[in-house]
Amino acid sequence: MLSMRISPGRRPAPWTTWAGTARCQPRVLATPGSTDALRALLHEAAERGEGVRAVGAGHSFTGAATTSGTMVSLAGLGRRTAPDGRTGRSEDVEEVEEVVPLAGGGALVTVRAGIGLRALNLTLARHGLALANLGDIDRQTLAGALGTGTHGTGARHTGLAAQVRGVRLMTAAGEVVDTSADTHGALFEAARLGLGAVGIVLAVTLRTVPAFRLTAREAPQPLDEVLERLDGPGNLVDAHDHFELYWFPHTRRTLTKRNDRAEPLDADGAPGRARDPSGPGTRTVETARRLWSTGRRWVDDELLSNGLFWATNELATLAPGLTPRINAVASRALAPRTYTAASHEVFVSARRVRFAEMEYAVPRADVVEVLREVDRWVEASGVHVPFPVEVRFAAADDVWLSTAHGRETAYVAVHQYVRLPRDRYFAGAEAIFREAQGRPHWGKLHTLDRDGLAALYPRLDDFCAVRDAYDPGRLFANAYTTRLFG
Ligand SMILES: Cc1cc2nc3c(=O)[nH]c(=O)nc-3n(C[C@H](O)[C@H](O)[C@H](O)COP(=O)(O)OP(=O)(O)OC[C@H]3O[C@@H](n4cnc5c(N)ncnc54)[C@H](O)[C@@H]3O)c2cc1C
Repeated sequence: MLSMRISPGRRPAPWTTWAGTARCQPRVLATPGSTDALRALLHEAAERGEGVRAVGAGHSFTGAATTSGTMVSLAGLGRRTAPDGRTGRSEDVEEVEEVVPLAGGGALVTVRAGIGLRALNLTLARHGLALANLGDIDRQTLAGALGTGTHGTGARHTGLAAQVRGVRLMTAAGEVVDTSADTHGALFEAARLGLGAVGIVLAVTLRTVPAFRLTAREAPQPLDEVLERLDGPGNLVDAHDHFELYWFPHTRRTLTKRNDRAEPLDADGAPGRARDPSGPGTRTVETARRLWSTGRRWVDDELLSNGLFWATNELATLAPGLTPRINAVASRALAPRTYTAASHEVFVSARRVRFAEMEYAVPRADVVEVLREVDRWVEASGVHVPFPVEVRFAAADDVWLSTAHGRETAYVAVHQYVRLPRDRYFAGAEAIFREAQGRPHWGKLHTLDRDGLAALYPRLDDFCAVRDAYDPGRLFANAYTTRLFG
């Protein structure tokens, strides 16, 4: 008997993204428990002439995962948990398929594609490993995050897809294919970042690094001072391992985040464990410090970043004209802070205030001018924006559809609270991003289609040729992929 859970009743509930920015009514919502069950789903959908979309955690803002046909979640496929040596709990710690140590440190780690990033981080930590860079939340699945080109920040670091060394996927024909740069190289390129348009990703081999700690320094800084120091000698971006900034529109204030590598973790890879060089007395002091720091982080992360932030957005919704003053107060409420913890704890924050987002990757050399243009546009337009603009950086990479393909990149993200109008703001910002040859994040709102993308991605035709070869009947297509790839 095939192992599979299919949504009960005639039709599953309507599906929506985390932000409510895209919706659909799938005919079937299935969580296959084996590759045979998945293959059977593909065959059945093909016979019915309807589409199949894999879904992750629904954290894209676009209709990347939407379908009126079969929606497939890989949440359970291949999932096996192991007890955590420290806590005894097993729910977040998964068995990995393979760990191959690398000569220079770190390892190639093969995990199931439907694993959540949180579980992935905890699992890697258990092996004394980590991902070199991460985005700012861990709610996504690995396959979902890879499929849209999810990235973090750091001028010497790439996005997640460039850390992939192998992808196992099921093609439209139901074949399971192991791909890498050396085996089925073109399919590998299209599978590691391709919105699930060439197949359902089953497992991923990641290049990991030895687990490390990060020291985070967060501080309010005037916008003009930050813009002056973004490039040139000793600039903020190159001086830190992971630099990012949040600018509050209608103000001249930013919050900068500078994350730098501290010492590596202990040999047992325990995340966030304080070192104890001088015995039990030191341990007590360290523990007290950590408790204080945890309390402080709770105030900053939960109350300021989420609770108070929700309140400021609600107030801006009720009284939009107050937005500049609200932003001025909110940006002053953020006190400087410094803390050190396991890398994934520093990279990742909770995001409880719901928002819509557009993010474009622009050439790094143009980011200051782009920000000045957005500032001028916001002031001239009269729109009200209580959400900060986020600016991040990445090294150039060679992934075919990476937003950082072949160029040093700066990411500029505009957000709007879900209860506020966003169309004018996003259209104004998008015109500025496009003028700078910006490439839209595949999971965030934008209006580009294949014609617009062709000029931005030198390997787009290669990607589409792989799609033609492996999914000629367009089993994996939906409205979004048809708009992007034809
Ligand atoms: C609060 C918030 C914070 C975010 N922070 C960041 C950030 O810091 N950096 C960043 O770059 N992005 C960020 N994003 C965007 C997010 O990382 C991406 O949209 C990501 O794709 C979401 O992953 P998911 O698991 O929810 O996938 P989904 O949105 O469910 O799916 C994304 C795509 O992956 C495909 N897919 C999913 N599983 C498979 C599979 N097994 N095989 C083939 N295709 C598959 C889907 O079909 C779809 O095309 C953020 C989004 C939110 C809501």
